[in-house]
Amino acid sequence: MSDDCLFCRIVAGEIPATVVHETKTTLAFRDIAPQAPVHVVLVPKLHEPHAVALAERAPGELTDLFVAAGEVAVAEGIADSGFRLLFNTGADAGQTVFHAHLHLLGGKPLGPLA
Ligand code: AMP
Ligand code: ZN
Repeated sequence: MSDDCLFCRIVAGEIPATVVHETKTTLAFRDIAPQAPVHVVLVPKLHEPHAVALAERAPGELTDLFVAAGEVAVAEGIADSGFRLLFNTGADAGQTVFHAHLHLLGGKPLGPLA
C-alpha cells in the first residue's frame, strides 16, 4: 500500500469505485473516463509502478490479472465479440497512474491500435 497512490486507495476502499470483480489478489473497476462501451481497469492489490515491475516481483499476480480479465469479459458479454487488453508503461505510453493496471476495452470494433 502506498498512501499517495490512487489505485492503492481504491483497493483499500478509501476512494469509491464501481467494482465489477474481486479476487484475493486483484480488483477490477470501471474506468472513470471510459474509452469504449466496456472499459474496466484491473489492478493487482500489490503496489508496483508498472506491469514489468509486477512481472519481476510477482509473476503469478500478473497472470491473475489476465485470468480476471477473461472472467470480466464473460460477465460483460464481450468474450465472444472480442476485446483489447492493454498496459500503458511509462510516460510516452500515456501512463498516468503509476500502479500497474490492465485496461480491458471492448463492446464495439476498436479499430487499429495507434
Ligand atoms: P493510464 O493512463 O494507463 O495510467 O490509465 C489510468 C486510467 O485510470 C485512466 O484511463 C483513467 O481514466 C483511470 N482513472 C483515473 N482515476 C480513476 C478513478 N478514480 N476511478 C476509475 N478510473 C480512474
Ligand atoms: Zn498503488
